[in-house]
Amino acid sequence: MCLFCEIIKGNIPSTLVYEDDMTYCFRDINPVAPTHVLVVPKKHFDNIRDIAAAADGAQYLSACSKAIDEVAKLEGLDSGFRVINNCGEDGGQTVMHLHFHVIGGVKLTEKMI
Ligand code: AMP
Ligand code: ZN
Repeated sequence: MCLFCEIIKGNIPSTLVYEDDMTYCFRDINPVAPTHVLVVPKKHFDNIRDIAAAADGAQYLSACSKAIDEVAKLEGLDSGFRVINNCGEDGGQTVMHLHFHVIGGVKLTEKMI
């Protein structure tokens, strides 16, 4: 069972921010800033390396890029924000379905979070 696949199917509740054919974007349950949205491809990829190896990976990556822009517009992140992808155990990835954290709504420190 993959948590984010279940969220995308609607079997586990989430707070939707933006959705299109290829992505599903919802609020992180444990936000670290006023805006903390997870941009998730609707097709399951384990991580950023998995998407690089897939024939349709480029399409999904491009869709994620568009979705990040849509989330930024919807959340009014005009003065900037941070995008984070954790990859693998040492990268701090806890949900093994590729996702991008879009974090903003406050002036972020130069340090990584
Ligand atoms: P990562 O550590 O990069 O794999 O990020 C996983 C993120 O998923 C964490 O920031 C969690 O707070 C978030 N998360 C876990 N379960 C849920 C959930 N049911 N709904 C929304 N976000 C979740
Ligand atoms: Zn999944």
